[in-house]
Amino acid sequence: MDISPDKTHPDTPHPDTLHDGLRGGYPPWRQRARAPGRPVLAANMRCDVLVVGAGITGSFMAEHLSALGHQVCVLDREQPGLGSTAASTAMLLWEIDASLGKLTQLYGFERAAEIYRHSLRAVSGLKKLVESAELPCGFRARNSLYLAEAGTDPRDLLAEHLLRERADLPGNYLDHRRLLSEFALTREAALLSPGSAEVDPVLLSQALLARAGRQGASLLAGEAVSYEVEGGGVLVGLANGCAVEACKVVLATGYVMPEWLHAPLHAISSTWAIATPPQQPGTLWRDRALIWEAGENYSYARTTTDNRIVIGGEDDSDLTDQAARDGAMAAKTKALLSKLAGLWPTAACRADFQWSGAFGETADGLPLIGAVPGQRHMFAAYGYGGNGITFSYMASRLIGRMIAGAHEDWFEHLAVDRPVPLGA
Ligand SMILES: Cc1cc2nc3c(=O)[nH]c(=O)nc-3n(C[C@H](O)[C@H](O)[C@H](O)COP(=O)(O)OP(=O)(O)OC[C@H]3O[C@@H](n4cnc5c(N)ncnc54)[C@H](O)[C@@H]3O)c2cc1C
Repeated sequence: MDISPDKTHPDTPHPDTLHDGLRGGYPPWRQRARAPGRPVLAANMRCDVLVVGAGITGSFMAEHLSALGHQVCVLDREQPGLGSTAASTAMLLWEIDASLGKLTQLYGFERAAEIYRHSLRAVSGLKKLVESAELPCGFRARNSLYLAEAGTDPRDLLAEHLLRERADLPGNYLDHRRLLSEFALTREAALLSPGSAEVDPVLLSQALLARAGRQGASLLAGEAVSYEVEGGGVLVGLANGCAVEACKVVLATGYVMPEWLHAPLHAISSTWAIATPPQQPGTLWRDRALIWEAGENYSYARTTTDNRIVIGGEDDSDLTDQAARDGAMAAKTKALLSKLAGLWPTAACRADFQWSGAFGETADGLPLIGAVPGQRHMFAAYGYGGNGITFSYMASRLIGRMIAGAHEDWFEHLAVDRPVPLGA
C-alpha cells in the first residue's frame, strides 16, 4: 500500500477556494470548460426569490424555481459548486443514513416508510431531470449494495429487508453464499437494491446553474450578512453594503448557516475520502454497484467514469476545524486504504486524490428542509448526512411547493425545528 502525495487534477476545484474551511485536499471531479459567469452584485436589486449559496442545494433550487417561473437570483460569496459539493463522493442513494428499522423505532413504520418512498422518488425524479435536460454530469444509474457490518448477525439485515418489502421498496437479500458468488465480497449478507445513481457533483451543480441561467435566473457574486423580514418580503444586506429585496429567501449555505438559525437535531462532523488511480479494466466489482456498510464506523465505495475507486468514511465528530482535518489526512488516508484492501483485495491500493470535508448530520438521519422558524418568507435546506444530493433535489421540490403555498403533511417530518425524538 502506498500513499502518493496530494495531487491537483488539472480540472479540480482550485486551492484558492477557501469556502470557510468546508473542505481540504483535492477531489477528482471536473469542472465545465466554461463555469457559469457571475458578476459582482454592485447595486440594490429586487427579485422574487433570492437563493443564498450556489452549491448543489442552491443549484437545484435555482433550476427548479426558475423553471416554475419565479424571477430567481442566486448569490455566492465564493465559487459556485466548490464548497462541500466538491467534496461529495456523489453517491445518489435513496437509502437513508438511518435504516428503515431505526426510523421505524423513532417515528413508527408508516412515517418511516413514507420518508423512504419519498427518497426513492427523489432519485428517480433527479434521473428524469438529468436525462430530459441532457445535463452533462457523468450520471450513471447504479444498484446499491448495503453490506452487513463485519462480525454482526445477518438476521439484522434480513429484518431490514423484510421491513423494506412491507414498505414497497425494491431490493433483494443476498446471503453470504450469494454475495460471495455474485459479487466476490466476503460479508455475511447484503441488500442489493436498484434505483440509485452516481454523478460528478461539480459538473451537476454547474450544469444546473447554467440551465437556471437560460431560464432567466441570475447568478451573482456577493456575501449575505443580514436578513430583515419586513412587510411582504426580506431585505438581505450584503457585505459590500448593497441590499437585495426578495419576496422569499432560501438559505442554501450548507454548513455555514447564520448563527441565529438553530436546529436542535443538527451537528457537524468531519469525513474523509480518497480516489485510487484508474484500475485495470475488468478488475472492478460487478455492475460497479454503490457499496456502503451498516454500522457506526461505516465506509462506502463507488467507481468513477475513468475507473478509479472512491472510498470514504472515517467520520470524526471531534475534529471539526480545517487544521485538525488536514492534520488527520495522512492517517485517515491510510485507514481508508486498509479498508479498501479488506473490501476489494485485488484493487491497486494507492491514493491519487485525498480530501476531507465538513459533514452536517442530524440525530435522526433526516434532512432539515422547510420554513426558517420565526422568520416569515425564509426557508432553509441542510443537514443532509450522506444523502446530500438526493436530499437537495428533494428540498428544491418541497420548498417549491411551500413557496406556492402548498402544504403536505409529510413536510413536517423534515421541519427545521422538529424536536429530537426519544431514542435518537
Ligand atoms: C467527503 C464527503 C463525502 C460526501 N459524500 C456524499 C455522497 O456520496 N452523496 C451525497 O449525496 N452527499 C455526500 N456528501 C454530502 C454533500 O456533499 C453535501 O450534503 C452537499 O454538497 C451540501 O451542498 P450545499 O449546496 O448545501 O452546500 P455547499 O456545497 O457547501 O454550498 C454552500 C454555498 O454557500 C455559500 N455561502 C455560504 N454562506 C454564504 C453567504 N453568507 N453568502 C453567500 N454565499 C454563502 C458557500 O460559499 C457555498 O458555495 C459528502 C460530503 C463530504 C464532505
